[in-house]
Amino acid sequence: MFIRPEGDFVYVEINNKELDRLEEKVVDLSPCFVMENKTKVSMPDKLAKGLAQSAFWEEYSSRCIGCGRCSFVCPTCSCFSMQDIFYKENKNMGERRRVWSSCMVDGFTDMAGGHSFRKKQGDRMRFRVMHKLHDYKKRFGYHMCVGCGRCDDACPEYISIAHCANKLMSIVEEK
Ligand code: SF4
Ligand code: SF4
Repeated sequence: MFIRPEGDFVYVEINNKELDRLEEKVVDLSPCFVMENKTKVSMPDKLAKGLAQSAFWEEYSSRCIGCGRCSFVCPTCSCFSMQDIFYKENKNMGERRRVWSSCMVDGFTDMAGGHSFRKKQGDRMRFRVMHKLHDYKKRFGYHMCVGCGRCDDACPEYISIAHCANKLMSIVEEK
């Protein structure tokens, strides 16, 4: 089914024989799709030396609250974690449950012995941005990020992956 609201009307195209009775209400309509984003994003193919470790990412340590919303709405994020659930009714019973997780939330990189790879939000932002817009392409030939902008819309702190990428690009061009 394709739906397009326009003014006081809702235009519908239904590809289902059982709903043929609605035919007289259906107008001739062809689906249209987003062909271009308003926001232009550039990401350097080659990063300036030391950029991955630079103070550039510190800004995100103070702004990002680690809620993980950017990942949970992302169509290309698929990371998960495991939780052991013990039932109150019977302490000998429980389950190991697979739950959504994100490289942006606390605990994601925790290991046995208390070690954690990325403790600061700036480090986590660096990992996410580089993975979406650099490292994946290096390995597979195309960007992981599809440019949908959902993460930008969902972030309660107005952190934008698009702005972050463009800022990185301008730093690389300056060097
Ligand atoms: S813009 Fe990219 S990183 Fe953000 S939600 Fe869409 S695919 Fe994911
Ligand atoms: S949605 Fe925003 S505040 Fe939440 S983890 Fe992502 S970048 Fe940080």
